[in-house]
Amino acid sequence: MKNKLLTNFLNYVQVDTMSDEESNTTPSTQKQFNLAKILVQELKQLGLKDITLSENCFVYAKLPTNIPNCKDNIGFIAHIDTIPGFSGTNVKPNVIEDYDGKTIKLKGIELSPTQFPFLKDLKGKTLITTDGTTILGADDKAGVAEIMTMLYHFVKTDEPHLNIYVAFTPDEEIGTGIEKFDLSLFPCEFAYTVDGGKANEINYENFNAAAATINVKGLDIHPGSAKNKMLNASEIAMEFNSLLPAFQKPEYTDGYEGFIHLTSITGVVGNAKLTYILRDHDSDLLEKKKEILKEAANFLNKKYGKNTINVTIKDSYKNMATIIQKYPKVIEKAQAAMQKINLVPQASPIRGGTDGARLTYMGLPTPNLGTGGYNCHGPYELACLEEMETICKLLIEIAKQ
Ligand SMILES: [Zn+2]
Repeated sequence: MKNKLLTNFLNYVQVDTMSDEESNTTPSTQKQFNLAKILVQELKQLGLKDITLSENCFVYAKLPTNIPNCKDNIGFIAHIDTIPGFSGTNVKPNVIEDYDGKTIKLKGIELSPTQFPFLKDLKGKTLITTDGTTILGADDKAGVAEIMTMLYHFVKTDEPHLNIYVAFTPDEEIGTGIEKFDLSLFPCEFAYTVDGGKANEINYENFNAAAATINVKGLDIHPGSAKNKMLNASEIAMEFNSLLPAFQKPEYTDGYEGFIHLTSITGVVGNAKLTYILRDHDSDLLEKKKEILKEAANFLNKKYGKNTINVTIKDSYKNMATIIQKYPKVIEKAQAAMQKINLVPQASPIRGGTDGARLTYMGLPTPNLGTGGYNCHGPYELACLEEMETICKLLIEIAKQ
């Protein structure tokens, strides 16, 4: 199984599937079809049923159960695209067997255990790194390889399993793909995305998210005769930002702490604009963050005159925990499978959103499992083969029950 897993993984990461946030089509880049088509071929070779490649680059397939009269369905999902922020072109994976625990030298960069303390725990393991010039794409091709290897295992061994549905999806990294997911081709009560970190982790809490735009209207007057008349929108914009809680910023928060993050500021004397993203696992606390922005605007509108500041807030996505808690079975099933293969389950909150969160709100409760990848979204990315193998075993356990 380990060899199959490694071969799958090395094949997939060498296919360029970078998504593009500037695009408004799904898939955002046609090259994502290159991997989708390889997966379709492999699913055919494995003899899966109902294989579909949609025009939006979603791959769906089913491995029918071999248990008589079994009606239980289980689903696994991974995304095929890689982050647009750093090159995923010409990925040359570097396999390090029996890692010695020391600094790994790549082209122009180093992976040192001082900078990345988790490396110490990977001594003796097989690591797959980049060559230093691209991302690796373990996010999420490790997930794709693990799902494919799980299917391979069931096809080759005939071990009893439920009806297994799998889907490979585009454009997760730019957050635009999943709304085109066709639930009618995926008739599961619940599913798992395989797109996280460690093998013993399960994520079912993500942020509630909103975005705010603050428009400031100034009064531009010749500076020579501006006394008691000018309203400098850029000054007022800075004043607005200074009224916000200093420690509720991403650089000061962690775990379950939410934040108000200034993402852009532009301005002249006549007008200025600030944009923020607001995040909190607790929906009441997210509402409080919205209130803080509105109160700051009210205060400045009293000081400088009505409608100087205009606040627009839009909700982006919600914490899936609210819904997942109504389906304890989906968490219990994964945790029981972890315990069977001697893992100690750990629930960790995601400081972001996931495709699973959107699917959960679309009616398919979908928490997230690990992949064995580390340092995603940059040239320091790597994967641990033994951990990936453990995740394959976990998926097998989940699909067996
Ligand atoms: Zn991912």
